[in-house]
Amino acid sequence: MAIKRLFCALIVLCCSCAHATPEQFDELVHQIESGQRYFFSLTDFQTTLQELETSLPANDPVRRNIFDRMRCMLGFFDQPQKGIEYSDTQLAAAKARDDSAALADYYVCRYYLFSQLGQAQQAEQNAQLGYQAASDSENPLSIAISLSLLGSIASYQGNYADAMQHYVTAYQLQRGLGYKPYISDLVLSIAATYRRMGLYQDALNYIDQAEQEFNSPDEQFRHALIMHEKAYSYAELGQYQQALQLFEQSMTVYQQLKEPMWRTFTKVNLVWINNLLKRYDIAMTLAKEAKSELDTLQTYDMSSVGTYRGLLAMYHGETLLALQQVPDALQQFALAKTALSADGNPRYLLMLYKAKAAALAGAKRYDEAYALLNQYLQKTQIQQQKAREQQSNLLRVQFDSVRQQERNTQLKAEKQLVEQHVSALQLAQRWQYAALALIVLMLVILLAFAVSLKKRNQRLHRLAMTDELTNVANRRRIMMQAEQERIKAIDTKTELSFLILDLDHFKQVNDCFGHDAGDIVLQQMCITVCAMLREQDRFGRTGGEEFLIVLPDANAQQAEIIAERLRQAIAAIAFTGYDNLAVTCSIGISQYQAPEALNNSLARADKALYQAKAEGRNKVVCA
Ligand code: GH3
Ligand code: MG
Ligand code: MG
Repeated sequence: MAIKRLFCALIVLCCSCAHATPEQFDELVHQIESGQRYFFSLTDFQTTLQELETSLPANDPVRRNIFDRMRCMLGFFDQPQKGIEYSDTQLAAAKARDDSAALADYYVCRYYLFSQLGQAQQAEQNAQLGYQAASDSENPLSIAISLSLLGSIASYQGNYADAMQHYVTAYQLQRGLGYKPYISDLVLSIAATYRRMGLYQDALNYIDQAEQEFNSPDEQFRHALIMHEKAYSYAELGQYQQALQLFEQSMTVYQQLKEPMWRTFTKVNLVWINNLLKRYDIAMTLAKEAKSELDTLQTYDMSSVGTYRGLLAMYHGETLLALQQVPDALQQFALAKTALSADGNPRYLLMLYKAKAAALAGAKRYDEAYALLNQYLQKTQIQQQKAREQQSNLLRVQFDSVRQQERNTQLKAEKQLVEQHVSALQLAQRWQYAALALIVLMLVILLAFAVSLKKRNQRLHRLAMTDELTNVANRRRIMMQAEQERIKAIDTKTELSFLILDLDHFKQVNDCFGHDAGDIVLQQMCITVCAMLREQDRFGRTGGEEFLIVLPDANAQQAEIIAERLRQAIAAIAFTGYDNLAVTCSIGISQYQAPEALNNSLARADKALYQAKAEGRNKVVCA
């Protein structure tokens, strides 16, 4: 069993190192971590440790830390006391730098070292400390590993329900992490615990699942361990033939893989099964082989070797008893007693009581046989009582966990409902936002549209009111303005005068210089007039080369002065590009006589203009 837990311990040591460089070291660590390396013998541990040391880069404190942690696990199987001294120093250092991950590793390591020394209490204490440190480090792998240690302690003490809880939690954590070596270890632990409680079907369920999971060629060893565990269940169920086959199957694998320890252990179990099948000659042969193998076995797990020595003595004693060799049998049982007492496993001791009672009866030592059998029955009853308690404890735990699961499902459903509600609200809110955004967008579009419409209208209005060639007010506009000024003049009782300006002999300009020149003359003349008028004056083209000028606040005399200035300015315009071109104009003036109509006033101005023309043009005439 120790080898399984060893993987656990080895893997946790490496969990923090995958990111480091020098590939060689990291690759090796990864191999150990992922369970690609098997440790069958002391030499395997030693060579691996040497390989790690060789590939450890200099001045690399992170890898040094990992190496130190691994060394605790790999380096002290043959000298646990030294290992404890080593871990004392490392623990102190880890405490000083508050490194809870390292602390967890060293406590786990110490669990194994104290177990090696048979100091169960110390081992347990370290397992507990390991669990605390792992919880502090919040590393799920460390937590799972320390839980599996607590599980094995509880199982050893017969507290199977507690053990099962630790194992199952660890198993679920490892399932989440996906580390197959741990998963297979925990399946074995869980199955063995169920078996010890007499819940064989539960044990076999776990095993069947693992059997299918661990079937790749590089998982042969784990598969063999699983078959091994399955064999125990069948043997205890009285199906010896199946048990025999399974033990033989796993032994073949151990042989192929040159794994000496499990091969020998299985051989011991085969003695047991062959006894049960009454194949005593085979049992004798196997027992001899197993004994010499155990005597020469060099392994990291000497305490298990001691237990198997005891088991072998017991099974061999049973063979001898069946073959009527009672004294030899009793001698073997005595050997078994010493070895199995050291192990302290109550199940094995019970088996021994029963076998020894039979041997004593065979030796006609009936009183002793009776006393021992009595003891056996009492202890068996206690044992069975305890198993029943554990079963009901487990059922309670399972029931609790089922209830917990139900509660979790219920909470989950409630949470889902709330989430649905929230997401519905969020959706509604999103729609509201969308609608709002749409409205804003529409408003913006409308506004833009309105603005552009207004601009367009303004442009159209301007176009409708402006003379295209000269950019001054067109006829419609200047007539409107004239009417407005007329009304204003009436309202404010102010004076108002009108000028009608007509270019002289303009036809000739066109004829002599061309229509384009005529256009330029019109434009230039408008610019000149505009520049000379006051702010409140109005100016527009009434047609062809004829213009109307509205002069608010001006009587006929003032208008005449303005007109005269305009006449002179126009006559003085020099047209660039047309050397001999010059124009003159004639202007007719009328002062408004309230409340006469606009037409009347303009007609008088027109008349005055006519007169100016008649009088020789380039002239201002006042009506
Ligand atoms: P008068 O001195 O009697 O006013 O003679 P006139 O030639 O100026 O008058 P008449 O009415 O005989 O001719 C006006 C000319 O103005 C006729 C037309 O060709 C020209 N005219 C009217 N509008 C435009 C225009 O927009 N551009 C140009 N180039 N010529 C125009
Ligand atoms: Mg004219
Ligand atoms: Mg004219």
